Amino acid sequence: MKDLTSHSVAIIGAGMAGIAAASQLQQRGAHVEIFEKSRGLGGRCATKRWQEQTMDHGAQDFTQRDPRFIEALAQACGDRLLPITMPLRDAHGNALQGRQRWFHREGMSRLARDLAAGVQVHTAQELSSALPLLERFDAVLSTAPWPQTQRLFGLQAGAAAASYLPCLAALFLYRGLALGRSADTHGFHQPGMDLAWSACENHKPGRIQGEFTAIVAHAGTSLSQRHLELGPEAIADLLRPLVEQRWQLPPEALAHSLGHRWRLARVGQSMSDAPALPAGLHFAGDALRQSRVEDAWLAGHQWACQYQP
Ligand SMILES: Cc1cc2nc3c(=O)[nH]c(=O)nc-3n(C[C@H](O)[C@H](O)[C@H](O)COP(=O)(O)OP(=O)(O)OC[C@H]3O[C@@H](n4cnc5c(N)ncnc54)[C@H](O)[C@@H]3O)c2cc1C
Repeated sequence: MKDLTSHSVAIIGAGMAGIAAASQLQQRGAHVEIFEKSRGLGGRCATKRWQEQTMDHGAQDFTQRDPRFIEALAQACGDRLLPITMPLRDAHGNALQGRQRWFHREGMSRLARDLAAGVQVHTAQELSSALPLLERFDAVLSTAPWPQTQRLFGLQAGAAAASYLPCLAALFLYRGLALGRSADTHGFHQPGMDLAWSACENHKPGRIQGEFTAIVAHAGTSLSQRHLELGPEAIADLLRPLVEQRWQLPPEALAHSLGHRWRLARVGQSMSDAPALPAGLHFAGDALRQSRVEDAWLAGHQWACQYQP
C-alpha cells in the first residue's frame, strides 16, 4: 500500500464506514478529518439515553466474521463487547440458530466512539455541499447514504443507484421486570411482518435501570412506507399494539414510549460497482455491500486500503 504522508482526506459521516476509512487512512500516513452532522458518532449505530435508560434504536447487534473487523474491535473495545445470550425467535416462537451476535455494553453508538479513538471528528457539522472541502483537502470521501451523497456532490439523482428502505422504530418502557415473553426471549425476528423486529433491552446487561421491561421495536418495510410521515408519538402508537400482543405485555403497565423515523434505514438494492465520480470525490458505505454494521465497516476499510491518489 502506498504511503499517504502529506496527503489529506476529508470524510463526511462518522458512521462505521467513515470511521473505518479514517483509521485505515491514518495508518497509511494521511491527514484525515471527519465532518459529522449529528452531535454524536455512530450514524445508524445509534443509542438513545432516554428516561434514564440506554437503548439502541438503530442497529441492534453485529456479527464478527472478518478477521480485520475482529482485530479492530479487539484493539478498540476490549471487554466492552458482549454476546447476546438469550434466544432470538422467529414468528412462530422457535429459537433461531445462527452466528453469534454482539453488542457494546454502553450502547451501539459507543462502538463507533471506541473505533474512532485518535481520529479528528468535527461533530454538529451538517454540510450542504462537499465541494468547498476540496479547497482544503486533496480528496473527499462521503459515507452519507448514497442519495445524500449525490446531493453533497452535486450529482443528478439516478447515477449508480442504490435504493434505501425506511424503518419506523419505537422504544417502550413497561413497569415491572421480566414481563411476558421477555422472561425467555431476547428478540423476535419476523422479516416481512408489520413488526419485523422487536427485542428486550434488559438482556443487554447494565442498560436498563429500575423495575422496567424495555422493548425496542422496528416496523417492517411496508408498514414503514405507509406511515413514513408520522411523528414520534404516532409512530409509537402504531407499533404499541403489535408489541403488546407479541410480547404478552399488559397495556396498563406502559410507562413511556418514543418513536423514531429512519428514512434511509437499510439498503434495498446495493451498488454492483463503486460509482464513477469526478476527480477528488469518493463514496463508501453499506450501499457497496449490505446493511450490516460489519459490512459498513468493511466497505470503509477496503476503500481506504485500495485508495490511490
Ligand atoms: C433500524 C435499523 C436497524 C439495524 N439493525 C442492524 C443490526 O441489528 N445489525 C447490523 O449489523 N446492522 C443493522 N443495521 C444496519 C447498520 O446500522 C448500517 O448498515 C450501518 O450502520 C451503516 O453504516 P454507514 O457508515 O454506511 O452509514 P451511516 O451509519 O448512515 O453513517 C453515515 C453518517 O453520515 C452522516 N451524514 C449524512 N449526511 C451528512 C451531511 N450532509 N453532513 C455531515 N454528515 C452527514 C450521518 O449523520 C451518519 O452519521 C440497522 C439499521 C437500522 C437503521
